[in-house]
Amino acid sequence: MAVERTLSIIKPDATKKNITGKINTRFEEAGLRIVAQKRIFLSRREAGIFYEIHKDRPFFGELVEFMVSGPVVVQVLEGKNAVAKNRKIMGATNPKDAASGTIRRDFAASIGENCVHGSDSQENAKNEITFFFSGCEIVG
Ligand code: ADP
Ligand code: MG
Repeated sequence: MAVERTLSIIKPDATKKNITGKINTRFEEAGLRIVAQKRIFLSRREAGIFYEIHKDRPFFGELVEFMVSGPVVVQVLEGKNAVAKNRKIMGATNPKDAASGTIRRDFAASIGENCVHGSDSQENAKNEITFFFSGCEIVG
C-alpha cells in the first residue's frame, strides 16, 4: 500500500458542535497524520467551485448554503491508503447507512449535514488539496 494524501473537510455542523478534536482523534487513531490544517470560512463562490461536480443535483443549492453556514476545517491527511482509509473512517454519505463506529454514524444528523468531506479518488485528492493548500503549507 502506497503512502497517499487525501483532502478532508470538517463541515460547519461539526465545527458548530465543537467536535473537531474528536474527529481528528479518529483520524490519528487510525494511523492518518494531519499534515496540513486550517479553519476557514468558505465563500459561496468557493463552495460552489469545490462542489461543482454536483451542480446539476437537486441538493446543490442546499449543499452550498450549508457549507457557508459556519467555519470549516480543511486538512490534508497522510498515510497508507489514505483515500480509502478516510472514506472508511467517515462512513456512508447518509448517517443512517453508515457503519457503527464511523464519524457519520456517531456524529451526523442527516445526509446533508454529515460532518465530514473526504476525497473519493487519488486524482480528486490531488486537485482538492491544490484547491486549498500551497506546497509550503503541507508539512509531513
Ligand atoms: P460524499 O460526501 O459521501 O462523497 P457525495 O459526494 O455524493 O457524498 O455528496 C456530497 C455531499 O452533498 C454530501 O456529503 C452531503 O453533504 C451532500 N448530499 C449528498 N446527497 C444529498 C442529498 N440527497 N440531500 C442533501 N444533501 C446531500
Ligand atoms: Mg463525494
